[in-house]
Amino acid sequence: MSEAPSVFSRIVSGEIPTTLLAETDRVIAFADIAPQAPVHLLVVPKTAEYRDVVELAAGDPSLLAEVVEVASSLAKEHTGGEFRLVFNTGESAGQTVFHVHAHVLGGSLQEGTLGGA
Ligand code: 5GP
Repeated sequence: MSEAPSVFSRIVSGEIPTTLLAETDRVIAFADIAPQAPVHLLVVPKTAEYRDVVELAAGDPSLLAEVVEVASSLAKEHTGGEFRLVFNTGESAGQTVFHVHAHVLGGSLQEGTLGGA
């Protein structure tokens, strides 16, 4: 039995409306609905094939590179080019949506703020 489409697949298909901040043939980007930093964007491959960044890196490294490229260009636009790129991988690491995505965080982030419990 196939799994129900993830919230990100429903955004990719247009079922859930979102303001896109960037789009390529294979990737979309939009603001996180519950921001955890002054700038908190998500970069999401359109394909639902990969649950997390480990699967993506193994299955399609060029798509992972494209995610990073889109993150970088968004950061140039929204945070002056400096950013934190986070891929939560697994439930105990905070992953809630099992459709690979990168969090682009920026805007006066402090050293020593990674890994909050
Ligand atoms: P994860 O916890 O899997 O690393 O990240 C999932 C992220 O998706 C969370 O930061 C959450 O706020 C965000 N999110 C969940 N549902 C929606 C939605 O419908 N729209 C947007 N823009 N973000 C969402």
